Amino acid sequence: PQSPTNQLIKLHQDATKLYTHILMNTEMGQPALDYLHKRGLTDQTISDYGLGFAPSKQLLKPFFETRKIDYQTLRHSGLFIENSDGELRDRFVDRIMYPIRNQSGQEIAFSGRMLNQTPDQPKYLNSPETELFNKRKVLFNFDLARGAVRKQGDLILFEGFMDVMSAHQSGVDNGVASMGTSLTEEQIYAIQRITKRIYVCYDGDTPGQKATQRALSILRDNSSLTLGVIQMPEGMDPDEYRQKYGEAKLANALESARETPVAFEMRYLKTQYDVDTDTGRLQYLNDILAILATVKSPVEQDVYLTQLADSFQLEKASLRQQLAMVKPVRQ
Ligand code: ATP
Ligand code: MN
Ligand code: MN
Ligand code: MN
Repeated sequence: PQSPTNQLIKLHQDATKLYTHILMNTEMGQPALDYLHKRGLTDQTISDYGLGFAPSKQLLKPFFETRKIDYQTLRHSGLFIENSDGELRDRFVDRIMYPIRNQSGQEIAFSGRMLNQTPDQPKYLNSPETELFNKRKVLFNFDLARGAVRKQGDLILFEGFMDVMSAHQSGVDNGVASMGTSLTEEQIYAIQRITKRIYVCYDGDTPGQKATQRALSILRDNSSLTLGVIQMPEGMDPDEYRQKYGEAKLANALESARETPVAFEMRYLKTQYDVDTDTGRLQYLNDILAILATVKSPVEQDVYLTQLADSFQLEKASLRQQLAMVKPVRQ
């Protein structure tokens, strides 16, 4: 007899196969498959990630019931919603299904993306916490990325699953994503076991940039990792970048658009103040100098001071004088 854990894993494996079958081989799945193709995902990528489709009609419930899976196992799987009479219904309907795997590559949960824009529905719906699935611990693609991270020496943290898959399709396999939440200590612990260097590559929109600042600060406080940022063009996420410019350009950008955390802060904080006014400019300079005061390398400090002096037409000597008076904030 199988342990309850193995039963739940088997349930997720069967569900993954079923969702994939609906996507690839049925009429019901065709609009979803067309949608994925329109986004430029290849059948190889779709198969590498085991993508599928949950149709609008009940799928898993009749399937598992005919296989005599017991009610309690189904209830605890997270794949169903229970009404007040204790009746189960498929949780995921009319959604593109992304299996979430644990570090051993076993399916333990799903994230479902809605196919048709409906304003009263969340774009992504995740499995609830279950015996198998603790979203604080899971990083999407960690099992596949591990080898590439070891070979390459660094890891890229993306914001969305689509970004991870876009990178993979572009030959960049060291990407992972958290489950739409900010980084947790558990995730950082897992990352630190396989690398010393992490690049944050979040969306180039305002929420993405804000989340980048937050991720950097969480990483600084909870790890000894060397940090970097990969900057996407204004308003774009890595997947949109691939759709617009292609795989080769995305792979190239992921290499060449790298910057230090300080360079990121200098750029990001500039958008937070009105640097065209004297007050705004002075506030900005104060914030930046507080950050620069924490930079240990004098050469690196000098590089940033030169940039600041140039962009605001200031004497480097006065910036340096001011820097000497600033209390460093912890970076
Ligand atoms: P897509 O390209 O498919 O539209 P995305 O990955 O660009 O999706 P974002 O809006 O940038 O989506 O969100 C980033 C990530 O945050 C998603 O991949 C998902 O994990 C998570 N997320 C977004 N919206 C929700 C939501 N309503 N509920 C839960 N998680 C969400
Ligand atoms: Mn986003
Ligand atoms: Mn995005
Ligand atoms: Mn996107």
